[in-house]
Amino acid sequence: MGEVNLTDVRKEYEDVVAVEGMDLTINDGEFVTLVGPSGCGKSTTLETISGLTTPTSGTIEIADRDVTDKPPKDRNIAMVFQNIALFPHMTVYENISFGLRLRNFDQEEIDRRVENAVEIVQLEGMLDRSPDELSGGQQQRVGIARAIVREPDVFLMDEPLANLDAKLRVSMRTEIQRLQKELGITSVYVTHDQEEAMTMSDRIAIINDGELQQCSPPLECYNRPVNTFVAQFIGSPSMNMFDGSVDNETLDVTDFSVEFDAVDVPLQHNDPVTIGIRPEDIYLASDTDDIAHPSRPVTVTVDVLEPIGDQTYAYLLAGDDEETELLMSLDPDKDVSERDEIDVVFSRDDVHVFDGATGEAITHSLVDTAAVANDVAIEGEA
Ligand code: ADP
Repeated sequence: MGEVNLTDVRKEYEDVVAVEGMDLTINDGEFVTLVGPSGCGKSTTLETISGLTTPTSGTIEIADRDVTDKPPKDRNIAMVFQNIALFPHMTVYENISFGLRLRNFDQEEIDRRVENAVEIVQLEGMLDRSPDELSGGQQQRVGIARAIVREPDVFLMDEPLANLDAKLRVSMRTEIQRLQKELGITSVYVTHDQEEAMTMSDRIAIINDGELQQCSPPLECYNRPVNTFVAQFIGSPSMNMFDGSVDNETLDVTDFSVEFDAVDVPLQHNDPVTIGIRPEDIYLASDTDDIAHPSRPVTVTVDVLEPIGDQTYAYLLAGDDEETELLMSLDPDKDVSERDEIDVVFSRDDVHVFDGATGEAITHSLVDTAAVANDVAIEGEA
């Protein structure tokens, strides 16, 4: 069926290596999003799957066929782009059926497929309109219907929602997700927006500098990022990062330290480390009851408060010279003001530690898992 396999794909332009060592399998029926900063190689990767680009080396397989050197038309794929490029002088019906007519499908089959696609994207009653009589979202749906009628093995989408306004983008996101599940067609989706990737995908493939960093389900990327790049790219606002070192059973950074349970954490005295703490894993010391394993309190000064509604971003400064910055996600009902001195704690179950030299993840919790199991057992007894 529609499995996509990239094996050791490399794409080199004259003076840049756009993609390197890309090994990626997208399972039949799966929705995988390629995400990463601008210029990281997302579109190039997608283009090697679509056939718009031939890789410098490596192989591409679609539905168990090596298509590395095949043109797009021989790959049974359908693409949806940011710029939908509808034919302005054609009706919605003509736009959707254009590819089928070009391939000489008989009229009955064309009508069957168009009717089915139009129902899926909810454009019934609009077949006779011209594109300029449609809203941006409706035009995008025509683009998607045009892809659906191809009945492809694979959908390839390159930032299809980038031109839509924020509200429409969110509703189209849900719509694309719904119809992808309904149709069960293998889909590869490109976006630079980590939130879009998190909400839509079965798995997210995070790319940096042409290289795949991690390809995992969204929450796995969030909870267990393989390195500092993924840790900071996934999650908004970004994870706080501090360089430091191991001092027996504490992790020391410039202006505070966090203790860890030595049993499960493969850290040696003096190892250089980077500690990662998400804004949502920092709590007021007065709320330690909310977390199972709080760290020792750290005294900080509240620099700036940014209310965004359901939470407030608190920019904190730690240390005598107030040189260490932390961002905390705070409950807006808390009685905290700018310039207050407050004590905060970290949920040690959620503190990430990375190798200070390579950035590779070492652990995603500072708590001994045996101790956690014991806690649960004790709670169960009570
Ligand atoms: P993304 O989609 O993640 O923004 P791209 O895949 O478009 O990144 O680009 C990856 C790198 O390859 C960038 O440095 C870009 O400038 C370069 N690149 C992309 N297409 C071409 C091309 N046709 N010719 C030369 N360089 C290119």
